[in-house]
Amino acid sequence: MAQKRPPLPPWTAELGLACYKCFKEDNVHLSRCSGCLRISYCGPECQKRDWELHKPLCKALRAMEKNSLIAATLISALPKMPITDWKVVNDSMTQACLDVVFPFYRGSLQRPPTLFEANLILGEPRCLACTRTDQLIRMEAAQNGADNFRRLIPCPECHLTFCCSPAHWDAARPLHHGPCEEALDGLSQCTMNRQIHALLKTRTLMISVHDFPVRFVWHPKRVKSAWTPLSGSSWEAEFHDEMRKYAGKLTARSVFLAIMEASDNLSMAMTVLHGLEMLNDDDGWTRKHMLRVHIIGASAMEANSVIIFEEILNHLPQVKILKLVLCGPDMPVGALSQTVALETCSECTQLGRQHIQEHVADKYHIFVKNQGSQFQKPDLCIVFNSGASVVSTHTWLPTLKLLVEGKIPTVFTSYNREEAEGQAALLRAADAKLHPAVGPTRNPWGSIKLHHPPPKVYGFDSSNGWLAGGFR
Ligand SMILES: [Zn+2]
Ligand SMILES: [Zn+2]
Ligand SMILES: [Zn+2]
Ligand SMILES: [Zn+2]
Ligand SMILES: [Zn+2]
Repeated sequence: MAQKRPPLPPWTAELGLACYKCFKEDNVHLSRCSGCLRISYCGPECQKRDWELHKPLCKALRAMEKNSLIAATLISALPKMPITDWKVVNDSMTQACLDVVFPFYRGSLQRPPTLFEANLILGEPRCLACTRTDQLIRMEAAQNGADNFRRLIPCPECHLTFCCSPAHWDAARPLHHGPCEEALDGLSQCTMNRQIHALLKTRTLMISVHDFPVRFVWHPKRVKSAWTPLSGSSWEAEFHDEMRKYAGKLTARSVFLAIMEASDNLSMAMTVLHGLEMLNDDDGWTRKHMLRVHIIGASAMEANSVIIFEEILNHLPQVKILKLVLCGPDMPVGALSQTVALETCSECTQLGRQHIQEHVADKYHIFVKNQGSQFQKPDLCIVFNSGASVVSTHTWLPTLKLLVEGKIPTVFTSYNREEAEGQAALLRAADAKLHPAVGPTRNPWGSIKLHHPPPKVYGFDSSNGWLAGGFR
């Protein structure tokens, strides 16, 4: 039997602010791993239990620190003045990681880093104004022959953003406390940090107290009495009462956090509904006997949360059958071109409604070709979290051509504005006439669970956070 994969450590553990093994941060005394000084443990017990997994990276981190050539390269690339433009600071970081840091670890580990390791390599806390890390500060001190070194100074409010000196904090403060474009309602990076932190804590609590699964795949078990347009609605309006019923003992604050957590998966179903609403001139689609949705480029993320798509049926009481095709070369092995009827909630079952899925481990244009004359144009095609790099690859072009020329209603989503705009440019280059309602623009049904994407020092990502573009 396959070994159960341990859950990915939360951001706080990746920053060294929680135990890297048990994730505890409150009422524990954390000490840094003396080998790499990169992560912390609550005691020798957790450190011992983690050593087998941590050992290779611990050694590689030390080797990096002792490598004077790498040190010289990274130090010379540091900006001479504090940067206040987040795009510049993010770009300089990403470039250094691609050119120097990542190749070093690949060589040192003699294999590509695992996801856990990559998160630690790229996610080391950095100065918001110059991208210095604690490791770089130590490397600089070693170069200068100094033996006492300073450390990054955390923000006194959120403790999750850092600067390397008071002067750099003076330069970075307006950025850290000003409205952040990727955050909800223009909240600041500092406020969002605190919100994410609260969510991480609730999550750890839910996992231990309520036996919450690590991945929270949830949709309310209810059928709405009639289709109500989603424009003007919100996550809170749609899900608050249902989450309250489900989560029972949770406090009001925790209900909100649970909705945030659930939105990560639910955003897929809600974005399908939003896309259909935006790309149709009337609501005829809400009364179809069978509604067809094709998810292109589907992978484990979609395959692991298939049940949440019932939420599409739950919003459309007049639809009898939802036929979903999950199609992508990265669909997990075992995905066969076979049609299965998923179990639905008791209400849907009673009403004789069906949720049918077909899983196809292939490229979409091949699927369409194999279908031949059997192919039926879907009501919507959707590509979740497409980065510009995904669709720029030539393997995507036949699918893109098929969608554009076939005038198949299609929507692409992305993690952030940058990716959405890059994606939109590629869609236009492929002659797609983008519908203004579906991007590039913020997705009102993007996940409200934001992530801090390493190695960036500023900004947030969220699943389907942006609509990159769409056409019909
Ligand atoms: Zn621990
Ligand atoms: Zn270590
Ligand atoms: Zn700095
Ligand atoms: Zn802060
Ligand atoms: Zn149902």
